[in-house]
Amino acid sequence: KPVVALIGRPNVGKSTIFNQMTKTRQALVADLSGLTRDRQYGDATYNNKSFVVIDTGGIGEADDGRGGIDDYMSAQSHTAIHEADIIVFVVDARAGMIGADAEIGKMLHTLGKPVYLVANKIDGVHDAAPAEFYALGLGEPYPMTASHGRGIANLLDDLTEDMPEDVEEEQQDGLKLAIIGRPNVGKSTLVNRMLGEDRVVVYDMPGTTRDSIYIPYERNGKSYVLIDTAGVRRRGRIDEKVEKFSVIKTLQAIKDSNVVVAVIDAQEGIVDQDLHMLGYALDAGRAIVVAINKWDGLSEDQKNLIRFELDRRFSFIPYVKVHFISALHGTNVGNLYPSIHKAYESSMFKVSTSRLTQILEDAVAANPPPMSGGRRIKLRYAHLGGHNPPIIVIHGNQTGSLPKSYQRYLENEFRKVFKLEGTPLRVEFKLNT
Ligand code: GDP
Repeated sequence: KPVVALIGRPNVGKSTIFNQMTKTRQALVADLSGLTRDRQYGDATYNNKSFVVIDTGGIGEADDGRGGIDDYMSAQSHTAIHEADIIVFVVDARAGMIGADAEIGKMLHTLGKPVYLVANKIDGVHDAAPAEFYALGLGEPYPMTASHGRGIANLLDDLTEDMPEDVEEEQQDGLKLAIIGRPNVGKSTLVNRMLGEDRVVVYDMPGTTRDSIYIPYERNGKSYVLIDTAGVRRRGRIDEKVEKFSVIKTLQAIKDSNVVVAVIDAQEGIVDQDLHMLGYALDAGRAIVVAINKWDGLSEDQKNLIRFELDRRFSFIPYVKVHFISALHGTNVGNLYPSIHKAYESSMFKVSTSRLTQILEDAVAANPPPMSGGRRIKLRYAHLGGHNPPIIVIHGNQTGSLPKSYQRYLENEFRKVFKLEGTPLRVEFKLNT
């Protein structure tokens, strides 16, 4: 997401603009200097375009309008300016142009980033007042009365013009479930079981060995699309099918799905190919539910052996739910659904930038990142970068030096807080200089 930083002297109305953009009332706004927190991150959406807004507490805390730039450029503002793709420079039309504005303007010129100049508080000043800000060389100021929400839309129209539109992620035709597994593990039997005893499968196409079959169905008022990689036909004709195992077909089904149901044959035990398949699903970032099939007719010893193997070989995906089922008898098949839904919801979870940043700050406070080259690695803020798989993007400096163990620590913290189950979670790092 593009990052927009609000820059300007204290009390020019940055927090009010922040609130208007993010449509929250979180930040306390009053006509007093230095009231807002140092820095605040929020999500904004305008015309179906999303971006992150950073509100800086203000440049020039000791602001008499005459100091040099270093006197009133706080470290916070510096950071925000460097993190931003776009700068919104806010000036106060009532106060008129003062020395500090000129200094900030000069500095902004050197950045090579797009700068939008906003003349706020134009209510009650005469029409020509904003004109003096032309001298900043930043073009015509956007006139604004942020406290009344006037002028915001104008600014946002231009600000967001070149931003990419958000892609629609709504599930139209139902939750897509890919049933994958080696030949003969019981995929067809499970598919028919899930579709229900009396259901006539109308999608009875011969299907090439390369193609999966997509079967829409409903259960308890919810819509699903089963992606059947076994190439199933009609109930009762299971024996007639000939399945050719195709990695490409499996990969395609995984890619098309929201949740993967990985079927494993308990009678055969967990074999390498089962793990490869799980690996494909994880690489694709898909949520996974594991079904250990043919649980009927196993001896206690065989069951214990499987449980032992699961502990040993599934330790890399502790968050994936495992069910012991019999597709043939229908035992525990219904129990797959709560896990499927939990995995799907986890893969699609939503959170605001400010909340995610708060969680990051808590995690960092509880267990600070190590030093690197004599400096402590700084993690500044986090935003959600995508769904299915969920991606958390963390901005900071020296993030390249962050040890794997610390990355895992953060991932586990996010997992805990959001109670993520069944889905891989990607934590990515973005370097801010
Ligand atoms: P697919 O190749 O993965 O689609 O596997 P099928 O569904 O065709 O099943 C292969 C064989 O395993 C068939 O003979 C099924 O009857 C049998 N089978 C499937 N599920 C179960 C189960 O839960 N228990 C037992 N005992 N046999 C099963």
